[in-house]
Amino acid sequence: MNLLHENDRLGQYPDSWYAATANNIAEFPTLKGAERADVCIIGAGFTGLSSALHLAKAGFSVVLLEAHRVGWGASGRNGGQLGSGQRREQDELEKMLGFAHAKRLWDIAEESKATLRELVAEHNIQCDLRDGVAHTDWHASGVPDQHAYAEKLQRDYGYSKISTLDKAQVRELVGSDAYHGGTLDMGAGHIHPLNFALGLAEAAHAAGVKIYERSEVLRIESNEAHKASTSDGYVNAAHLIYACNGYLGHLEGKVAAKVMPINNFIVATEPLGQEMAESLISRDVAIADSKFVVNYFRRSADNRMLFGGGETYGYRFPRDIRATVSKPMLEVYPQLKGVKLDYAWGGTLGITINRMPSFMRLSPTSYSLSGYSGHGVGMATMAGKIVARTIQGQAEQFDTMAAVPAPSFPGGVHLRWPGLVMAMTWYSLRDRLGF
Ligand SMILES: Cc1cc2nc3c(=O)[nH]c(=O)nc-3n(C[C@H](O)[C@H](O)[C@H](O)COP(=O)(O)OP(=O)(O)OC[C@H]3O[C@@H](n4cnc5c(N)ncnc54)[C@H](O)[C@@H]3O)c2cc1C
Repeated sequence: MNLLHENDRLGQYPDSWYAATANNIAEFPTLKGAERADVCIIGAGFTGLSSALHLAKAGFSVVLLEAHRVGWGASGRNGGQLGSGQRREQDELEKMLGFAHAKRLWDIAEESKATLRELVAEHNIQCDLRDGVAHTDWHASGVPDQHAYAEKLQRDYGYSKISTLDKAQVRELVGSDAYHGGTLDMGAGHIHPLNFALGLAEAAHAAGVKIYERSEVLRIESNEAHKASTSDGYVNAAHLIYACNGYLGHLEGKVAAKVMPINNFIVATEPLGQEMAESLISRDVAIADSKFVVNYFRRSADNRMLFGGGETYGYRFPRDIRATVSKPMLEVYPQLKGVKLDYAWGGTLGITINRMPSFMRLSPTSYSLSGYSGHGVGMATMAGKIVARTIQGQAEQFDTMAAVPAPSFPGGVHLRWPGLVMAMTWYSLRDRLGF
């Protein structure tokens, strides 16, 4: 099974609200014949685009190969939430790695948000960037822990942009009785992710990157240099970056053992009008809740509800994505019953066992960056900056990320799926039963 083709048509964005509101940019050609570059990058999501842009700015010649279109993968389909920190909380990281290492990981994550904001400002990327993400608690028992975590960030990390919300405050922010409390992080934010990806592509192109779309890499030969072949051409390069995330397939076995693809789904309602939209979320911040199969939602710039969630375990998208996502959406917002869902789409992301990104040095001149585990808007953008620095000889941040122990999925590439299904079913059962 090849996830590059299983759920989508060649070279076409999915039928998403993002694609329907995408900024217009010129298409890039298909690779034909031979190319040579300092760096060849496979995959034009945030990871590949940011790597390309940062390397080109540093003076490297770069060829970027994308199987479909720029931003076609998770980067153009996601919830758009720019979260703080890593996917794992700091107290867990401290236990796992000690405070000093955990603090370096926090600093990298802080730089990821700043980097995204700087790129948006520098390249004037129109992507509806807004501040604020609220984390809301599905179970009352989770509220004290979440408040204690916010206080820890204020105390131990000097992070003052997060505040606690009690039940009444969360009810005022989210027009739903589902939540018992939470936190509001105004240092986090949200974006139109496809427009951010398209803006990065334009900036990279302007900086001299040669971008090829509809150019799937089918084979890699790595000796002293690297040769990446598509059906109609090839690229010879001194350095190679795998930026394929959940769509890597079997192109690189060492990465596939540690990063596993999983699908997630989003719907966009019809436009609700400002009053109704504000009755659902009173401020223009994004929300992520505490369920194991997370519900994440926000208002769109044209006052729709963009709601992500729902669970399915299988590589094929469900036949009826609307029904899959409606279920959790109506649990949170029963008042949306009967509202038309104009768009519904899915995407594939890469997850790791410990939910920390996978940074791998595959050889002295080849790298893989992936497995952001649902926390890649900032971190994938940052990964591109980090690998560009690494290729320039400054590997400190790469080594900080790569030093996080990264277990392989039990059962290897072929058997990893059944184990995950069992684990996920167990955790989502816990959500439903409330323990
Ligand atoms: C539905 C959904 C919601 C999400 N919500 C959030 C969120 O709110 N916040 C957050 O931080 N993260 C979220 N994520 C995760 C986030 O989108 C990803 O972590 C991030 O986009 C990863 O970027 P990437 O560039 O590494 O991968 P991708 O954007 O998936 O890009 C990989 C690219 O590689 C290309 N490719 C793969 N193989 C080949 C090949 N052989 N040849 C050529 N090209 C190839 C693919 O076509 C694809 O375009 C979500 C993901 C999904 C799917």
